[in-house]
Amino acid sequence: MTADAPPRETAHYETVEGGAVRCLVCPRTCVIPEGERGVCGVRQNRDGRLYLTTYGRAVSTSIDPIEKKPLFHVAPGADVLSVATKGCNLQCDFCQNYRIAIEYEGVTEYDRPPEELADRIEAGEADGMAYTYTEPTIFMEYALDTMAASPDDALQVFVSNGYMRPETVDTLAPHLDAINVDIKGDRQFYREHAGVPDPEPIFETVERFAEKGVHVEVTNLIIPGENDDEASLRERMEWIADEVGTETPVHVSRFHPDYKLTDVPSTPIETIERAMEIAREAGLSYVYSGNVPGHESESTYCPDCGRLLIEREGFAVREIDLDDGACPSCGREIPIRGTPRGPSNGRRRRVF
Ligand SMILES: [Zn+2]
Repeated sequence: MTADAPPRETAHYETVEGGAVRCLVCPRTCVIPEGERGVCGVRQNRDGRLYLTTYGRAVSTSIDPIEKKPLFHVAPGADVLSVATKGCNLQCDFCQNYRIAIEYEGVTEYDRPPEELADRIEAGEADGMAYTYTEPTIFMEYALDTMAASPDDALQVFVSNGYMRPETVDTLAPHLDAINVDIKGDRQFYREHAGVPDPEPIFETVERFAEKGVHVEVTNLIIPGENDDEASLRERMEWIADEVGTETPVHVSRFHPDYKLTDVPSTPIETIERAMEIAREAGLSYVYSGNVPGHESESTYCPDCGRLLIEREGFAVREIDLDDGACPSCGREIPIRGTPRGPSNGRRRRVF
């Protein structure tokens, strides 16, 4: 339970005058004076070099169903080791993980070097790794080393806000099976609620990963009165259908009050259902609800004939009914990355 893993020097920076460095991982490209840290709180200038201070220092290494990420079209029923460090490059006022992402006073860090995480996969505790809960972009050196140490057939997935530079996408893409990117709203929403001056790089990230063959799923958290108007929902969903593809699984997720946004009520189920309808009208084939346990839209249906193909209940996969990756009734190919592991195997969920 120690927290003495050494910080790791990163390769993703350039030096600027006066002993400062410019971090090149996310679009903020923070210019960081000697001794200071970037907006993320974890990338620090020490003697004119940029270090990741959270390298090997995890705040979570729990085992989760991959459905929890959410990733519904990646090895259904798989378990993943969820790796997070503290810190984030956004400051969302509705953050559900703000204790580890933004404030992190008193958060316990555990010494978990990449090899130790990889050993847990080797031992059969999970089918792969998810870099999640906080923004993995800012601890990418730790994530990349963990990927390198992992067995070749281990799943490697990111759950990301997408706020990274194109060069970062290029570095990560060859090592990732899948990514879920949270598209939160329009330009005004990002400025008001996430501290992001220009969300354009986020949309570019989604397109770029898809172009590089990484399986992409998109989450949109719907917050009443903030990003639930029909016009902006339609614009978002049409953008996904047009630019990423109609086969992209989309998760329309229910908001619950958290962090600084406690005066906004939970999203009404009708709003979630209307948003899913808009997504389908935009041509998207696989539209799921999130945070609505027991809703029929947690399951996968054939877009052509409507047959129930993957039955889910919460994060558990109850039944998989696919014929060599296609609908047994009509033969439609269903995009699933990786071999299905489910129905959920009842492996005990371990949290340390
Ligand atoms: Zn069918």
